[in-house]
Amino acid sequence: MGSDIRVILVNYTKKPLETVTWAALISYWDDWETEAFEKMSERDVEMHLPKVLGYGHESILEHATLTFSIEGCSRVCTHQLVRHRLASYTQQSMRYIKINPRDVEETFVIPESVKNNSELYEKWKKLMKETIQLYEESYKAGIHQEDARFLLPQAVRTKIVVTMNLRELKHFLGLRACERAQWEIREVAWKMLEEIAKNEDLRPIIRWAKLGPRCIQLGYCPEGELMPPGCWKVTKDRWLRLSNLKPKV
Ligand SMILES: Cc1cc2nc3c(=O)[nH]c(=O)nc-3n(C[C@H](O)[C@H](O)[C@H](O)COP(=O)(O)OP(=O)(O)OC[C@H]3O[C@@H](n4cnc5c(N)ncnc54)[C@H](O)[C@@H]3O)c2cc1C
Repeated sequence: MGSDIRVILVNYTKKPLETVTWAALISYWDDWETEAFEKMSERDVEMHLPKVLGYGHESILEHATLTFSIEGCSRVCTHQLVRHRLASYTQQSMRYIKINPRDVEETFVIPESVKNNSELYEKWKKLMKETIQLYEESYKAGIHQEDARFLLPQAVRTKIVVTMNLRELKHFLGLRACERAQWEIREVAWKMLEEIAKNEDLRPIIRWAKLGPRCIQLGYCPEGELMPPGCWKVTKDRWLRLSNLKPKV
């Protein structure tokens, strides 16, 4: 489902876990000094960071940021993403970039539920094709793309760059990696997690900070009876598999 969505971790704070740990140590390490940052070892991180996070001192996570590119999702998805206010965004402009007439599914996201109904699927594709044609016709008649875009549905594919610090990322994943989240943004959330899991500098933070849906963070499902039976187990297994991911060889 929605496999055309591409999420890439493009950049992140240099020595992210060392940065966070070193910042935390200013609180209670008498010998703390700026220069200690360069001496931070993997062992220091392993010794202090899980403990401090275990106390619930999460503000330290704000010292590391991650930048992701997200391509091929719909504007339905990015509208939900940008509701998360403690992050930074830059999105492909529909004022400056004209949609080129292409295949319907290259231009728009069509949900699986629609694709599974062949009669409706054909109707959707027909309407979307006509929409692209009218957009093109309007543009050729002198309507600028910034006005022609009013025709386009929320299904239109887009690209966005998002930068979040680790604390906001945890909050985001808590809500959006949950089975209750809409499928497209949930897919984005899990792909972000997969990107972190593949990265040796960042992988341990998934377990230490419990980066994942809220059932993982809290140890119970706050959505309760709103969720299908068995959902928590499936989510937990998925998260455990991902958080144990070995480095790519
Ligand atoms: C399953 C689901 C269904 C949803 N349905 C709807 C819906 O029907 N309609 C709708 O409008 N939205 C809906 N949303 C979006 C939701 O209401 C939030 O806007 C979105 O999830 C962003 O979350 P947030 O506000 O907690 O976090 P962020 O904006 O990511 O902020 C993180 C945290 O910072 C703090 N914070 C940020 N800004 C402020 C502030 N101004 N004042 C005080 N504290 C602040 C809060 O503690 C907040 O939780 C839905 C979300 C989900 C996950």
